[in-house]
Parts: sequence; C-alpha cells; structure tokens
Amino acid sequence: MNGEKLIFCNRCLYSNYHPLGIILDDEGVCSGCRIHEEKDSLDWDYRLRLLEKIIEDYRLKASDNYDCIVPVTGAQDSYFTMHVVKNILNLNPLMVSYNKYFNTPLGIRNLANLRLKFDSDLLIQNINPNSVLRITRTALRELGSLYWPILAGQSVFPVQIAVKKKIPLIIWGAHQGIEQVGMFSHESEVEMTRRYRKDHDLMGVEADDLLSLFDSVKEEDIWQYRYPENDKLSEVGVRGIYLSNYIRWDPLKQHREMVETYSYEGAQFNRTFDTYDFTDCYNYMGLHDLLKLHKHGFSKVTDHACREIRHGRISRGAACELVKKYELNPPQNLDLFCDYLGVPEASLHYMIDFHRNSRFWQPDDLGGDANFAGMSLLRSNSIISDSDGLADKDRQELAAANYVKGTLERNQQRGYVTFGKGWP
Ligand SMILES: [Zn+2]
Repeated sequence: MNGEKLIFCNRCLYSNYHPLGIILDDEGVCSGCRIHEEKDSLDWDYRLRLLEKIIEDYRLKASDNYDCIVPVTGAQDSYFTMHVVKNILNLNPLMVSYNKYFNTPLGIRNLANLRLKFDSDLLIQNINPNSVLRITRTALRELGSLYWPILAGQSVFPVQIAVKKKIPLIIWGAHQGIEQVGMFSHESEVEMTRRYRKDHDLMGVEADDLLSLFDSVKEEDIWQYRYPENDKLSEVGVRGIYLSNYIRWDPLKQHREMVETYSYEGAQFNRTFDTYDFTDCYNYMGLHDLLKLHKHGFSKVTDHACREIRHGRISRGAACELVKKYELNPPQNLDLFCDYLGVPEASLHYMIDFHRNSRFWQPDDLGGDANFAGMSLLRSNSIISDSDGLADKDRQELAAANYVKGTLERNQQRGYVTFGKGWP
C-alpha cells in the first residue's frame, strides 16, 4: 500500500495497513471484524461434528503409533488445543516443540505441567545453538526480526516429524490470518500450506533464501528449517487442520479455563494487558514487540485490544486507552538478549532504529502524538481521541485487564532456560 492513506477500521483498531493484509468494506469495517461476526452466527455444534468426522479416519486402532501431532509451546493456545485433542476428541497425540532458547522459567514450567496434566509424550527439537545464534544475528540485522528462526522452526518441525514418523494429521490451534484479519471464512476450513508459512510466518524468506542472500549463514545452519518436499508429504498424506475453524475461538476465555482446570500460569508484561499469551519467551512481548511497532506501526497490545473489542468485552474507547498505556513502554530484558547476542545495548538500539518504517514514524520536531526515542508514531486522530466516555463495564474490564500478577521468573531464577525438564 505504498503511498496509500492510513485508514482505520471504525470498529477495531487495525488500519488498512496490516502485514497479513486487511480489507475495509463500504461501511468502514475491516475484514477481521466481518469474519469475526461468523463466530456469533455459525452453528458450532455442527462444526464440532464436522471436526469429529475429519479425525475419525486418523484414529488408530493399533497402539503402536500416535493418532496425530500437536505443536506446543509453554504458552499461547497449547493447553486449550491439548484439552480439545485429548479430552473432547479422545485422540492419542504426540506433542512436539521447537526449543526457542529464549525460554522463561515460567514457560518451561508450563510445558512440564502440560505433559503431566495431559498424560502425553513430548518431543523437543534442540537445534545446534551456534547455528541458531548465527541465524538470529543475520535475521535481526537484515530482516529486523529476531523471531525468524523460531517461526521457521515452530512451523516446520511438526511437519518434518509427521513425515518421519508417518503421523499424517497435525492439529493446530488458531489460524492467525483468520483471527486477526479475516483472511478466510471459517467455513472454508483452510488447512496448513507451505505457501502460507513462507508468505506470512517467514516474511517471504525461506531457509534457502537466507543462504543465497547472506554469506553469514551456511548450509549446515539452515537445513533443519527446510519444509519437506511435496512427494514426501503426499506419500504420508500429511495435512494440518486448525481447531479455530471448528470451535468458537476465544483466547481469553480459553486461557481462564486452562488456569482453572489445568493450572496453566500467566505473567504480567509491561507492553500489553494480556497476561496469558507468550509467557514462555523473554523476547516476544519485549524486543520482538518493539520491532513490530517500528516496522508496522502497531504492536501486540493492539492485537489484544482488537480481539477484546470483537469479543464485546471492551469498547473501542477502552481499547484505545489500553494501547496508549502500553504501546510505547520500553521493552524489558534487553540485557539478556545483548548477553546472548554478544553485543552492547547501543549496537542493539542502532539495529532497532535502522528498521523503523518512516511510513509510521517521523522526527519529533514535525509533531505527532506519541513520542519514542526522538521519533513520533503517526496514528489516526480517532485512535488518539476515541477514549472519552468510558462505560462502567469498560472500567471494570480495564481494572481486571492485568488479569494475573505472576512473573516470568520462577524460584528467583532469571535468564534464558535453554534446556530443562521443568519444575512440577
Ligand atoms: Zn476491524
């Protein structure tokens, strides 16, 4: 949308610029909000039956292999996905997890507890840490992303295991393109594809592109991130389905249930009000989130706020308040990342500034409402002013917005946990 004017949805806080692509209709409502309306109109009992029908073919009668693969982390929708797979669908899953190396003690605890509570096996992929470091350094410098290897690993490891162990069905939780921007109707029942992974998870850069673009990484660093060949996939019949097409998806409600039922634990963050997402990582809600703000003009708190507007728990005004409260807070735990990368904080800040997109940022002396490190973030007038007249319901939700008081640490331990069996 080069040169196109920033226009904001008049229901949520997304603009026509969103990295996943968003469309505003004649009434000024975005595709994400429109597709969300399906959540209140579809017959979800019927859709659950559709899901049960799909998985019936994969339920093994023999007990010498798993029925399906479930990709998990120590956070996000892992608990809810396992709850559905084990306790509603009665499948025997193999959980797989890519070790991101930025693990928080809390995330390791949640992952350990997940195995116990769901009585299941877990396979963890630990890629050579030196390779991961080389790729992280290159991806941060060249793409402005420290998360490329993590997104690549998390999206490919389950597929590789499906091929190797001949377990054709992979069950994911939410489809982010549907949840955030309404990329497809739930009724389209879209499944995992190589194309979506490359275009959206990996920002258009495959592992082999890293090799040809940058001489700082080598073949031995990237081969683990390669998506299996098509003939291998079809030999096993690998497919990946998303539960959010069959079950009414509501992350906050689900997380609260998981806390109650399976003692999932959350933590407070200083850059968003949600206390349940990404508690397994020191950087996702910190440096990664700041880079998102620099590159795309919004950060995770906007995602969380849009989600809460759509679910009808807060007004647009209250959502604006939340965004203003959190968006420009400095990221925490940069010292840990600098230690890991082996660079002084000044160099890191130079790299961060380099990836600021001038579409969303201008020098302070040109004016602007939100100041950060000598630059102002350009936002719509409605985002700045639409925070008056909060209803009582909003105030209650805002008061409850920092849902839990936990921290990322455990047993006073601070620092990346690169490997661990966990606490419980
Ligand atoms: Zn919208």
